[in-house]
Amino acid sequence: MFDSLSDRLSGVFDKLRGRGALTELDVRAAMREVRIALLEADVALSVVKTFIDQVTDRAIGHEVIRSVTPGQQVVKIVSDALVEMLGSDAVDLNLGVTPPAVIMLVGLQGSGKTTTTAKLAKRLTEKHGKKVLMASLDVQRPAAQEQLRILGEQTGVATLPVIAGQLPVEIAKRARTTARLQGFDVLMLDTAGRLHVDDALMGEMQAVAREGAPDEILLVVDALTGQDAVNVATAFGGQVALTGIVLTRMDGDARGGAALSMRSVTGKPIKFAGTGEKLDALEAFDPQRVAGRILGMGDVVGLVERASEVFEAEAGEKMAAKMAKGQFDMEDLRTQLGQMKKMGGLGALASMIPGVAKAKAAMANGAIDDRILGRMEAVICSMTPKERAKPDIITAKRRIRIAKGAGTTVQEVNKVLKMHQEMEGAMKKLRKMGGMKGMAAMLGKMGGGGMGGGGLGGGGGMGAGGMMPPGFDKFLKR
Ligand code: GDP
Ligand code: MG
Repeated sequence: MFDSLSDRLSGVFDKLRGRGALTELDVRAAMREVRIALLEADVALSVVKTFIDQVTDRAIGHEVIRSVTPGQQVVKIVSDALVEMLGSDAVDLNLGVTPPAVIMLVGLQGSGKTTTTAKLAKRLTEKHGKKVLMASLDVQRPAAQEQLRILGEQTGVATLPVIAGQLPVEIAKRARTTARLQGFDVLMLDTAGRLHVDDALMGEMQAVAREGAPDEILLVVDALTGQDAVNVATAFGGQVALTGIVLTRMDGDARGGAALSMRSVTGKPIKFAGTGEKLDALEAFDPQRVAGRILGMGDVVGLVERASEVFEAEAGEKMAAKMAKGQFDMEDLRTQLGQMKKMGGLGALASMIPGVAKAKAAMANGAIDDRILGRMEAVICSMTPKERAKPDIITAKRRIRIAKGAGTTVQEVNKVLKMHQEMEGAMKKLRKMGGMKGMAAMLGKMGGGGMGGGGLGGGGGMGAGGMMPPGFDKFLKR
């Protein structure tokens, strides 16, 4: 998702950044290119128009053109406008009501309502400690209720027992009563879809909404349907009071236009993004992060989150303790390499690191692949325990031995040593900055916008997050 849009925009931005001074004509020319890029990404025309007008207005303001880094300023303006277009702040579910909070999911058939119901229920149970009841109101498709029951079993979430022959409104009523009497915090209503928006569907949806009195009505939309998604959203939004959107299939290779248009067209926040068929493939939708990804600034927050999920608690604690003392030896580097492999290898990581487009291109060319991680591990394994603890003692002679042992070249060994040195340096710096807290503050700043394609590796990088060795992006470019 967003790959080609991202490529096009970074092309426009590279040109802008490369210039000392900018004229109004330069800005207008750049905006024409941005406009084409958005249209090609399938963003709704009205949304593109508003976006370009707004950005152009701001960008040809006098401060920008006269500033020391006009290109950078324009990039910042586009980035801010993109975040606004996506909805500015992440919006959470409104569960602060007298229980049970009722969440109703609506949308076309096959958009992912049932799957999303289960994903959300799982998330609310596991992350927020809620007691959740799911009920299927889909009496259209024969196996729909059974599908939800099975998903309930897989996720360990309760489902309302099925009573054959009951109609959606009756099921909604029974579900509410059951949820209240049995002390559930959240009730999720999974409704039936249709192939197209039609009167019968809308009528049923409204009746269920009256009976179920939902606190949230989430429209589930398939991001792959492009422009059509916008029409669907408009149609549903005209019938019931939507409180948010869930975009599914964000893992697919759609051009992303639906995601980009949805907020502007409906005025409703995108609350979640489905990113796969598995039941944990659901992300809270964060406009800042998505904009960062589109603009090739990387998804630093996503990277840290993903890392902390994968990183084993024990290894993490051990390393944190060592880092607090400013220590970082070869053994630690090896642990990190192992963690990186677990996180899905370099490909998965590269797509989240700022300045990624280049790293990705290098990977596509076969210049870099996951074998690098394995080779680096082999180099470390070929060192003696003493060498690993105190890499300073590794002389030229030892380097030759290590290279032979790992079946590689001395240059490769040097690279690993250099990388270790950079990481150790970063750890020391980090310690001076106030350890983990300083690091968190720094990451906060990076995520908060205003970073213009800076690299991760320089200042201290991800080391403290535990997983992405500082300086690793530099290593990739070598
Ligand atoms: P419903 O008719 O709206 O209830 O749709 P379902 O929940 O039954 O989903 C239809 C299909 O889409 C299923 O095969 C799901 O596994 C798949 N699906 C749902 N969400 C996602 C997603 O975010 N990514 C991918 N790749 N597949 C999804
Ligand atoms: Mg369904």
